[in-house]
Amino acid sequence: MAEIKLKNVTKRWGDFVGVQAFDLDIADREFLVLLGPSGCGKTTTMRMIAGLEDPTAGDIYIGDRRVNDLDPKDRDIAMVFQSYGLYPNLTVYENIRFPLKVRKVPQAEHEERVMRASAMVELDDFLHRKPAALSGGQRQRVALARAIVRTPQVFLMDEPLSNLDAKLRVSTRAQIKNLSHELKVTTIYVTHDQIEAMTLADRVVVMKAGIVQQVGTPTEIYDQPQNTFVAGFIGSPAMNLMAGEIRDGTFHSENATIPGVSGPPGKVICGFRAEDASVAEEGQGELRAPVYSMELLGDSTMVTVRTGRDLVAVKAPKEFRAEIKAPFAAHIPAEICHVFDAESGERVV
Ligand code: ATP
Repeated sequence: MAEIKLKNVTKRWGDFVGVQAFDLDIADREFLVLLGPSGCGKTTTMRMIAGLEDPTAGDIYIGDRRVNDLDPKDRDIAMVFQSYGLYPNLTVYENIRFPLKVRKVPQAEHEERVMRASAMVELDDFLHRKPAALSGGQRQRVALARAIVRTPQVFLMDEPLSNLDAKLRVSTRAQIKNLSHELKVTTIYVTHDQIEAMTLADRVVVMKAGIVQQVGTPTEIYDQPQNTFVAGFIGSPAMNLMAGEIRDGTFHSENATIPGVSGPPGKVICGFRAEDASVAEEGQGELRAPVYSMELLGDSTMVTVRTGRDLVAVKAPKEFRAEIKAPFAAHIPAEICHVFDAESGERVV
């Protein structure tokens, strides 16, 4: 069992708070993704779990052991980083075998384990090459094979796909998902890419400036963002956010009037997803504004308009065409609206 518990885990350097009171129970075999912009404390959290960084306060448990005072090598963790960390002078085979030697796994088991790990990441044909003779994607797979060659209690992965081109990233992402399912090892995965987070995670932790903003399944985070930060970070495009005011149960902004929006009267931020809105007949619809831009996406057309200071996107059918500055109308029924406090950004409805 490799449950991980973080209790009030905090990291400060002088006055600067890198990670603030992180509290979370990660289930055995869970795939947890830490997501957030650069500098939000993802790597620091991961390094504290690995034992590479001491928490300023709080406790970390792996299984039923408190590991705060345990050396990294005694925590039974395997790590994969963005820079692959391969030994240039060793062959792929020797690189993958390395952890078995360090851990003094009996020699007789080495070959079978290396072959099994390399087969899982489809490296069988490259075992005698040195890293310099591999592509970026192949190197990343060597790093993965090295992590899985001895089955650790926990995998920690820090942006393992960020050096790969877009296409390889998608295929390696699928491979990681498949591996974690096969190996049934608790995994913590750090990324700033929300698509990676949504596709891989059992649960996502969204962080900002060292503070956890929301923890939930990808669906929960997508459908019920806790605040405007999460709403604006998740989804492509992210949720539209319109500043405005609720008066007599109707939301008003410069170009939008949406009756039936629940929430306290006064200034609010109204959010909706582009795909929940739809094109309306000219002169109808809750949102009416000139077209600001139009993007053809293949399966649909994204129409952007301005309301007040905000740009908002509406997903239209793929055949839809309109000139820039032409009048545009969209249905934004109250049911698709998320209401956030204008000051704090916290969800109110
Ligand atoms: P990225 O996606 O860019 O890797 P991150 O979310 O992983 O970002 P961290 O590396 O955890 O961010 O850093 C969190 C914050 O802590 C950053 O503002 C960083 O500058 C700061 N920080 C990290 N290490 C130290 C250190 N040794 N001393 C002081 N500040 C540090």
